[in-house]
Amino acid sequence: MKRVAIILFTTLSSFIILQSAKDIRHETKYTRLDSLRGSITPERVWWDLTYYHLSVSVDPSTKTLVGSNRVDYKVLSENQIIQIDLQAPLQLHSASQNGENLEITKEGPAHFIKLKKKQEIGAVNSLLLNYSGQPVEAENAPWDGGITWTKDKNGKDFIASSCQGDGASLWWPCKDHMYDEVDSMLMSITVPEHLMNVSNGRYRGTDENDDGTKTFHWFVNNPINNYGVNINIGDYVHFKESYTGEKGSLSMDYYVLRDNLKRARKQFKDAPRTMEALEHWFGPYPFYEDGYKLVEVPYLGMEHQSSVTYGNGYQNGYRGTDLSGTGWGLKWDYIIIHETGHEWFANNITYKDMADMWLHESFTTYSEGLFTEYFYGKDAGAEYIRGLRTGIDNTENIIADYDVNAHGSGDMYPKGANLLHTIRQVVNDDEKWRGVLRGLNQTFYHQTVTTKQIEEYISEKTGRNFQYVFDQYLRDNSLPVLEYIIQEDKVQYRWSGVVEGFDLPLKVFLNEAEIWIEPTTNWQSTSAKNPTSFKIDSNFYVSILNVMGS
Ligand SMILES: [Zn+2]
Repeated sequence: MKRVAIILFTTLSSFIILQSAKDIRHETKYTRLDSLRGSITPERVWWDLTYYHLSVSVDPSTKTLVGSNRVDYKVLSENQIIQIDLQAPLQLHSASQNGENLEITKEGPAHFIKLKKKQEIGAVNSLLLNYSGQPVEAENAPWDGGITWTKDKNGKDFIASSCQGDGASLWWPCKDHMYDEVDSMLMSITVPEHLMNVSNGRYRGTDENDDGTKTFHWFVNNPINNYGVNINIGDYVHFKESYTGEKGSLSMDYYVLRDNLKRARKQFKDAPRTMEALEHWFGPYPFYEDGYKLVEVPYLGMEHQSSVTYGNGYQNGYRGTDLSGTGWGLKWDYIIIHETGHEWFANNITYKDMADMWLHESFTTYSEGLFTEYFYGKDAGAEYIRGLRTGIDNTENIIADYDVNAHGSGDMYPKGANLLHTIRQVVNDDEKWRGVLRGLNQTFYHQTVTTKQIEEYISEKTGRNFQYVFDQYLRDNSLPVLEYIIQEDKVQYRWSGVVEGFDLPLKVFLNEAEIWIEPTTNWQSTSAKNPTSFKIDSNFYVSILNVMGS
C-alpha cells in the first residue's frame, strides 16, 4: 500500500529547480537509531528466525495490549547478544530462555538481550518475551502505522493493525527487519467475546475463556514478512468460495462487518477475477497452504499476507476515482486488485531493505494494468498504465538510501509501472515477457531480495542488459529526453538528461512508418525523404523535444 500524495506531472522547465531540491534531501543525516532500525546489525545477523507464537490480549476499553511472543531461531554464528525491537510506549517486561530471566539493555526501540546459555551453531533456541502497554494509535492508517480503534455503525468495536514502514515492533516485539522472514507463525488473539479476530493464515479454532473473552488461533504455514502480520477485530460475518487455480483448489474467505454482507458479496467478485488474471501473468497464487482472505478494516487497505485488508467502501476505483483518468480504473475495485497483487510482489517476493520498495509497488501498480489487459484487452491495459503518468513528479529517486529504513519517492507507483511497461516494449514479445514475470515469482519464491537480483534476472531472461535503464528510472529522477531535428533528407536525434551509458531502444514513427532506433547522447540520423512527422510510440515513457523549436 503506502500510496503517497499524487503530484502533477512536472514540465521539463521545472526539472532544474527540482534537481536542487533533491540535492538538499541527500544532505539529510540519519541517526544511530535509524541504523539500528534499518540495518542488519551484529545482534541480528547471527540468528535466523524459524517460528513465532504471538499471543496478545486486546482490550478496546483501555486501548491496551498485553501479551507475549515466543521467538524460535537457529544459531548461524556465535554471539550472546540478541536484538529484539519494540516501540514505545509499549514496554518489554521480560525476556527469558529456558525459564531463566535475561538482562535487557535498551536503546530506543532496540532491546539488546544478553543470553546466558551458550549459543551453539546449528541449534534452534527459543526466547520468551512479555510485553504490554498502549500501542501508538494510527492517525492516518495505513500511511501512519499503529492500531486503529473505531466503532462500527452499530457501536461495536472495529479495530485493526497496520504498520508498513513503521514496522511490526509498533505493536509486538519481534525481529523488526525485512531481510529475515519467520518460517511459520501461530497467532493467538484474545478479544471481548462478542467480537471476532481475523489474522493471517488458517483459522485453527477458538478458546472460550471464563473472563468474558475469546481467543482466536490463526496459523501461518508460509514465510511471512513482519509488516504482513495483522490483527483485525470486529463484529464480522463470514462467507467463502473455492477457486480452482493453477495449484488446485484455493479457499477464499471473506470477513466483513455484519451490515455489509450484501454489498461485499457483490463487490468481492473482483477477488476471484484478480486470482484468474494474476495467476495468468505471475504464476500460481503463492500461498495456497494458507488460503486467501479479504478482511474489511476501518482504513483503506493493506497487503497483509493471506489476509488482504479492505476498506475501499465497496466501490470501484481508488475510493471511487480512477487514478489513470482513462476510465479503465473504474471497471474494478482498486484495493482488491492492488492489495491482492501484492501477494506476488511484496509477500512472495519481498524487499530485504525498504529502500527497494519499488519491488513491491512498481510491480503491483503494473499488475493493475495487467488485470485490465486480461479482461479488457491489450490496448486498455496499456492505456491504463500510460494514464497513470499524470501522477509522476520526477523530483526524487525511486530507490532510497539503504540500511536506514528509508523509502523512495511515491513515483515508485506510476513511474515504476511505466518503467516495466517500457521494458516490455523493448522485449517486444508478450509471451517472453509473461515468462519473465512468472519466472521471477518462481525463482524468488518466498524469498527476500535486493533490487540487484531482480534487475539481473530481468536482463538475463530477456537477453538484454537493462542496467542503465534501471539506473535512469530508479536511481535518477530525470526523465530521458529524446531531442530531434527534422531536416530535408533526414531526422537527427540524441538523448539528453540521461545517465552515462543509457541505452533504451525506441520504436518511433517517421512519416507514420514504424522504425526502431538506438539513440545515444551523440547525434545520429535516419535518412528520409521530406520527413514531416517524427513521433515516439507512446508506450515508451520518455520525453521528446524538437530542438529546432518548430
Ligand atoms: Zn501497494
